[in-house]
Amino acid sequence: MNETVDLSPADEKDAKASVMTGIGSGSEWLARYSSSLMGVFGTPQRVLVRGAGCLVWDADGKEYLDLLGGIAVNALGHANPFVTSVISSQLATLGHVSNFFTSPTQIALAEKLLAITDAPAGSKVFFTNSGTEANEAAFKLARRNTGGSGAKRTKIIALEGAFHGRTMGALALTAKEAYRTPFEPLPAGVVHIPFGDVEALKDAVDETVAAVFLEPIQGEAGVRPLPPGYLRAARELTARVGALLILDEVQTGMGRTGKWLASEDAGIMPDAVTLAKGLGGGFPIGALITYGPETSSLLAAGQHGTTFGGNPVATAAALATLHAIESQHVLANASAVGEHLRSALAVLPGVTEVRGEGLLIGFDLDADVAPAVVQAGLDAGFIVNSPGPRTIRLAPPLVLTTAQADTFLDAFPAILQAAKDAQ
Ligand SMILES: *Cc1c(COP(=O)(O)O)cnc(C)c1O
Repeated sequence: MNETVDLSPADEKDAKASVMTGIGSGSEWLARYSSSLMGVFGTPQRVLVRGAGCLVWDADGKEYLDLLGGIAVNALGHANPFVTSVISSQLATLGHVSNFFTSPTQIALAEKLLAITDAPAGSKVFFTNSGTEANEAAFKLARRNTGGSGAKRTKIIALEGAFHGRTMGALALTAKEAYRTPFEPLPAGVVHIPFGDVEALKDAVDETVAAVFLEPIQGEAGVRPLPPGYLRAARELTARVGALLILDEVQTGMGRTGKWLASEDAGIMPDAVTLAKGLGGGFPIGALITYGPETSSLLAAGQHGTTFGGNPVATAAALATLHAIESQHVLANASAVGEHLRSALAVLPGVTEVRGEGLLIGFDLDADVAPAVVQAGLDAGFIVNSPGPRTIRLAPPLVLTTAQADTFLDAFPAILQAAKDAQ
């Protein structure tokens, strides 16, 4: 064996075929799935083998318009040639170094994130591999915040309906009982208050509070935006008592709402923002951004860390994604196509309410048939998601065209009817 583990060209072709694809029908793959993968996700809806732009194909050759984008992840669609090329070049140059070292793409991405989120001098970035890890880092940041008093604070405020992730700290911030209860005790101190209620926030935020965690739009709860003025009120209340305002923009950030951050319009500066989903254009990466020198120095050397976080390939993928979003005017597309979808959905029979911004859209149906709509959608060649019994969520690639959106709008009445017939 040599150190490059060279395969002969013929061996390489066979080996690549066996590593990357293999042959099988969807039902054959699913049988293998159920005997080898842990059952936490239930049975996957389809076995997907290939994607291009907003389209994906399953193991049986069926084509789908992907209106979920890997849950708000595939910002530039599937197999974007530019992102693919940058990832391949970076991997072929330097793939991983650990955080005993740094690399140019890691530094350039941190600078880029600070620039596009209007961070003041002294702001900093910590990279992770996922959204939950970004929130774990934010949780630890909050535990170090004494509001300048030096006295430890352990209380954290989050909202009913909140989803912040599945690891123990992030799970403590997540509201849903079914996710929490089997794993108690969770890290203590998190209090959930009613969603969007400024009076409840006023009552909860005092000198014992280390941080308030908010999603500008609750994604998993069915695309529920905070009411206008709420973020501004939260900023004022937290600033008054030295509590951190931490915005979870894991789902809403990096162009999803037609802006870099969904919280932009509120005109406030939070103390920290967490990012993940769309940041790497499909490559796993997350980030915690801390604003200003004080918050940015709460975690001292040695107090947090990660092996993979900020890896050269992941940061190159994110740099490529952000570059393409900027140079190809993708934010404007997300705003325009999102607006088109929302106004068209709002007048469809059977749709009772439409929410969201840009290409993060939730809409309610006039019956509890959302899971059946997901199934009927798949049969009709559309991937959508049901975060609730009568709610559908769309989070397609930000490059979705109006023509592609129209194919879904045209098909929707029949999909809804098929779902109702199947009930
Ligand atoms: C998806 C999500 C998370 C968790 O991200 P993972 O990468 O799945 O760990 C956290 N917060 C919000 C708002 C999310 O949408």
